[in-house]
Amino acid sequence: MAKYLPVGVCCALAAALIASSSDAQPQFERQANGVIHAGGYTFDSWGAYLGSDYFKANGLRCKTGTSKAGPSPKGSQADCSFLATNPAGEYAPEVERYRIPVVVHVIMNTNGDGALSDAMILSQIDVLNEDFLALPASSGADGTDVQIEFYLATEDPDGQPTTGITRSTNNDWFDDVANYKSVLAWDTHRYLNIYTNTAGGALGYAILPQYNAAGNSQDGVVILHAAFGKDSGFVPYDLGRTATHEVGHYLGLLHTFESGCDDAAAPGCYNTADLICDTNPEAFENYGCPAAATSCNASPDPIHNYMDYTDDACMFEFTPEQARRMRCSLLNWRPSLYQIAEPDDTGGGAIESSRANGFIQDGHGLVLTAPAGTGHSWYRGGVPIVTEGERLTGVDSPSLIFDPVLESDAGIYTCAFNNGNKALVETAPFTLMVLPPNSLPAGAWISIAALMAAITAFTLRLFRRSQAE
Ligand SMILES: [Zn+2]
Repeated sequence: MAKYLPVGVCCALAAALIASSSDAQPQFERQANGVIHAGGYTFDSWGAYLGSDYFKANGLRCKTGTSKAGPSPKGSQADCSFLATNPAGEYAPEVERYRIPVVVHVIMNTNGDGALSDAMILSQIDVLNEDFLALPASSGADGTDVQIEFYLATEDPDGQPTTGITRSTNNDWFDDVANYKSVLAWDTHRYLNIYTNTAGGALGYAILPQYNAAGNSQDGVVILHAAFGKDSGFVPYDLGRTATHEVGHYLGLLHTFESGCDDAAAPGCYNTADLICDTNPEAFENYGCPAAATSCNASPDPIHNYMDYTDDACMFEFTPEQARRMRCSLLNWRPSLYQIAEPDDTGGGAIESSRANGFIQDGHGLVLTAPAGTGHSWYRGGVPIVTEGERLTGVDSPSLIFDPVLESDAGIYTCAFNNGNKALVETAPFTLMVLPPNSLPAGAWISIAALMAAITAFTLRLFRRSQAE
């Protein structure tokens, strides 16, 4: 077996990943003095390693296998197979929110390397939610609200209370060899298992669900311990986006540069390259944050997409079609993994619900979020909206925040902004209706199909105010 695989086949089949996980011979080793041995080379620091041609040429930014030689699609799994994506309306984030329980398995060596505090683990869960829910005022705010939420499991597979964190000390496991997953994994049908160790010298890797991964003990996500959590100090991979990227794979996404330049137009872009049309074609991965990258044609490379290889600080979005493919993958390939959030489910964050819904009760909080871009300006009935202290903010940002909303806020809202092509565009009008306080019983919601078409340009999010009401 070659010492390491050439670029063209860096992404081995997941089956190969599974089979090789018990091979001895770590290809990656980091000594106590910080010296790193990898692939027959020696590097004197993390910085030297991460910046090396070896790291890049071997795809170690992420070694998730994305070969499309997966199982034959069947049933509605065909909507998000290895061959194609069908971004049908039933996969729209507006339909409902899904919650995924997570168990984090922290693996250390006998020197104590790899230790992670509970706070650092919680910060990683926070980053996943910021990025997958595009939470306002977070670094993921400008992305697409995928309406998939993550929380540390509160019940273990035996139904016992748990923190959702396990810790183990084992030198082989820390080196990402030996079959630690077969020992540590919690039912992979029902839990997202995240392991932290050296990830075999990569920043991370995962197994796409299209390999029929759910239920296999090897299913899950592996993250380099140093790149796990927020503000880890592991610049430029210090903001927790390695996990965002790997969980993107875990939910069925391919790299934006998968198979190089694809058809730019539908329908070809749904069954070539990354199987997604609203990510611009990209010939090869980008590192750093190269604003002028245009690897396929005049269109900008999707350097801000979580599924490229750019720095954590450069990434801030999944696209709407990536969101639909992930939700399709969850529904059809991981059907036992999620719960549907109740409308008033506070989950682990500040979000009360996200049903696309034009009604809200006076006194609740509300965020209207327009698509990403620059120079956002909000209008009510065609008249520019003016900030009102802390109650009404974001009039010049993608997210207009009401805290609380008042009956007098009812009206027709639009947002004008510059899109990525610097063209001034305006959202479809959104009709907001505000009901008197306490006019709905707790947890009650009204479905307004007629409004849905107008809402599609928005993410509508209701949140529970922090103080008692
Ligand atoms: Zn990847």
